[in-house]
Amino acid sequence: MAYKIDSNVCVCCGTCISSCPVSAIKQEGNSYIIDENLCSNCGICSASCPINAIS
Ligand code: SF4
Ligand code: SF4
Repeated sequence: MAYKIDSNVCVCCGTCISSCPVSAIKQEGNSYIIDENLCSNCGICSASCPINAIS
């Protein structure tokens, strides 16, 4: 399963963007998305999100 950001939970703090080693997380308008083609499923972003919006 690929990691996904729950846009209903995310508060757009940006912490996950800088945590991703392959720059797979991008801001699109008011939401953050993970590019499945770049994501290696390492889980670092999920661990870095202060409100557990990534699973
Ligand atoms: S799981 Fe790893 S590679 Fe995928 S978006 Fe999160 S930090 Fe980046
Ligand atoms: S770290 Fe969590 S709350 Fe912050 S932008 Fe990423 S998904 Fe949203």
